[in-house]
Amino acid sequence: MKIVRNSLIPVPGFTAMNLCGVLFVRGQAAIDDEMLRHERIHTRQMREMGYLPFYIWYVAAWLVRLLWALVSLPLVDKKRRRHRLYGAYANLWLEREAYRHAPDAHYLEHRRHYAWLIEPLSACRSGCKRPSESEKGQGARSRR
Ligand SMILES: [Zn+2]
Repeated sequence: MKIVRNSLIPVPGFTAMNLCGVLFVRGQAAIDDEMLRHERIHTRQMREMGYLPFYIWYVAAWLVRLLWALVSLPLVDKKRRRHRLYGAYANLWLEREAYRHAPDAHYLEHRRHYAWLIEPLSACRSGCKRPSESEKGQGARSRR
């Protein structure tokens, strides 16, 4: 993976950004092996989807999750707002695959095509369920 250190990309507050398989790192920010593997997983996703469809999907999914997080902010307390905004990014299926498998140094050797899509769908098929009304009530009480 080609790494370009510079002072413009990504914007301040971020360490690195993968643009079409080239990793742009801000200044002398530290990057470790796990971060590189995370970005390599994204590069694999880009190659299998096509670069433009990857970015369209990524931005559209992030905007939908961000909008939902912003709409629901008045419903949660201050401590949970930041977590909810971060979750808009971290819960993207593309990010979930990259974060989940970045610790595995050999993941890309056995990764299934479209794993970012297949894993969440199969998880839902084999046990993902909506909480019942009684479970929802218990969750709300335990958070207070
Ligand atoms: Zn990522």
